[in-house]
Amino acid sequence: MFDDLHPALRRTFRAQFICKACGRTFRRELERIFIHLPALDQIETAPDRPFVIPEPITCPRCAALNRYELTDQTRSMLILSLLETTKTEAEVDFEQPVLPITFAMYDRTVMHPQEALQFYREKVEQAPDDAQMRLRLANTYRTSGDYEHAAEEYQRVLEMDPNELEAWINLAAIHVYHKRFAEAKKILQEIVQRAPSSGHRDWRKVLQHSRDFLEGILPLDELIPMNLIARLSPEREKPKRRRRRRHEKAN
Ligand SMILES: [Zn+2]
Repeated sequence: MFDDLHPALRRTFRAQFICKACGRTFRRELERIFIHLPALDQIETAPDRPFVIPEPITCPRCAALNRYELTDQTRSMLILSLLETTKTEAEVDFEQPVLPITFAMYDRTVMHPQEALQFYREKVEQAPDDAQMRLRLANTYRTSGDYEHAAEEYQRVLEMDPNELEAWINLAAIHVYHKRFAEAKKILQEIVQRAPSSGHRDWRKVLQHSRDFLEGILPLDELIPMNLIARLSPEREKPKRRRRRRHEKAN
């Protein structure tokens, strides 16, 4: 009985899946599940849409990849966990596996994280040499919890534009998140070298912060921005229901 703790007291969330290909039911311990708050409105018609699981899920019987439904019980437990995680609007326990997310595009339109990924993947396919577009794709991977792909894309951004400080910083933050502190410090040194000639408008601030991290004035953990854990809506505004038409301008 004791191993069946309330989900909010666990560091992982045990989710039950039904494979859409073969019908097999199986469980996985997940470290992170985001709940895209605006999609909670649609839970009647699209019951799995609010739940964003960053890691790939493979069926143990037929090996189908990411072709699953959650069970009703798992959905209910996720909602309960969300309520536990967000005791008050201002107080979110980021250590918990189930976290709220409201995914905002650059123009502040709200988009489902998976659709935002699709959107930027297509943009990058159309313009593979556009470093800024690739940076947005990387940031989208990052905010939806897929740090492996995020890191890959930041690397590519830096191959195109080694002075893109935002890519360096986020890459360092991902290293810290994975406790690869030596690699994070190497990047901070890189930033110190590059910042003054980067042309970045906040380069002085970035330089100062990087020095503070390197000298131990700021703990490295603080390099992890909150949005590496989850991006919350700044003010809990009501989700917009209109269809977004400004994706083309989402810059
Ligand atoms: Zn299957």
